Amino acid sequence: MSRKSGLGHEALLKRKAEEKLESYRRKIHMKNQAEETAAEQFRLRFKHKHDEVKLEGDLRRSQRACQQLDTQKNIQFPREAWYWLGLEKETEEEEEEEKEPDEDEYKSEDLSVLEKLQILTGYLREEHLYCIWCGTAYEDKEDLSSNCPGPTSADHD
Ligand SMILES: [Zn+2]
Repeated sequence: MSRKSGLGHEALLKRKAEEKLESYRRKIHMKNQAEETAAEQFRLRFKHKHDEVKLEGDLRRSQRACQQLDTQKNIQFPREAWYWLGLEKETEEEEEEEKEPDEDEYKSEDLSVLEKLQILTGYLREEHLYCIWCGTAYEDKEDLSSNCPGPTSADHD
């Protein structure tokens, strides 16, 4: 009887030890997973941040090109204030001074950098046959479509 119970006790101890080990393994596994997730999130954030910086740079280049090309065409005012560099801020300040916010007025702040970039590069292609990634103003639409790989940054990789 005592031997039997002794074995039972041993088995119980063994099972408890195994359970402990198993729970320890699970904890380590979860910890590793959490660390992996954090590292992945960091990578994504960094990539996103990196993309944003690149988009902002592309947008500024587009604005500069737009201002230059519009001016060459004797266009005195941009289609939208933010199409040109630096103009947007002045307009905002004026609006603040007047303190009469026009609700119908187009608010460029509602647009993301990517949206602005898409709109502006589209305008540059339509109006000026210009591609900021090629850095080229094309002769005509055919010239543009046959020599420029496409309307996005990725097309130029
Ligand atoms: Zn191009």
